[in-house]
This record gives sequence, C-alpha cells and structure tokens, in this order.
Amino acid sequence: MMGTFTKSFGSCGGYIAGSKLDVIGIDEAQFFDDLYDFCCKVADCDGKIVIVAGLDGDYLRRTFGSVLHIIPFADSITKLTARCQLCGKRAFFTLRKTNETKTELIGGSDVYMPVCRQHYVNGQVVIESAWDTLESCSKAQTDSYQEEVAVA
Ligand SMILES: [Zn+2]
Repeated sequence: MMGTFTKSFGSCGGYIAGSKLDVIGIDEAQFFDDLYDFCCKVADCDGKIVIVAGLDGDYLRRTFGSVLHIIPFADSITKLTARCQLCGKRAFFTLRKTNETKTELIGGSDVYMPVCRQHYVNGQVVIESAWDTLESCSKAQTDSYQEEVAVA
C-alpha cells in the first residue's frame, strides 16, 4: 500500500498516565509528529519505560521525523541494521526503487530495499540513470507517436 500519513499520540498521554502500564512500545516512530513531547512526558513525568523503534534517516539519509530528537534523553540506543539485498553485508541505508520524491511514501519491498554503503552510493546513481533512461524512452515514444499521428 502506498500513501502518506503522520501519526499523533493525541490524548494517549492522559490515558497512559493514569494506567497501570509499565512499558510503552512505539513502532514506526518517525511518523509521530509529537514523539518528543509524548516520550518526554511518559518517561519523565509518568515514570514509564518507553521503547521506541523507528528509522533515523529517510531514503536520502536525511533525519526522519523526530527520532533523533529523543536520543539526548534516552537511557540507551541500539542502531539495528538489515542485510543488503545485493551483497548481504550490513545495510545501513534504504534505497527507494521508485522516482517518487516525497519523504513519506509508505511501501514495502516493492518500493524500498535495504542496502550497504557501497550499494547505496552505486544504487542512487543506477536508479537515477534508469529513471532518466525510462523518461527519455517514454518521451521518445510519445514524440514518435505524435510524428506518426502528424504524418497520418
Ligand atoms: Zn551491498
């Protein structure tokens, strides 16, 4: 499924403060626009243990959402990696396989591929030139189609 969305904890904070929950787990943390305020409140004020999982960077290796903003008040941080789909080394980055440029594009392996540093750098070049080629091919086809129409 593709689409964009931003999540918010909204009034969850009030519910959690009064609940008997000891541990709060947050996944896809990069999509929560109030991540910092929520984590601060439930960890500092309500005394909850908060475990946050999310991407630190987007497909262009820019900071993603507020994930990096909560690191200064975290007890510990573990940077996890996937395996590079091309060579099996540790994959630190995500390569987007489409030419869609908006940051929040929801998709799975049809859109994203975990890659190592070498294949990220090479892959960006390969993907950009592939899209340039596809665009010039489709433009050439459109042009020749228009010429045929004009001749006919
Ligand atoms: Zn690789």
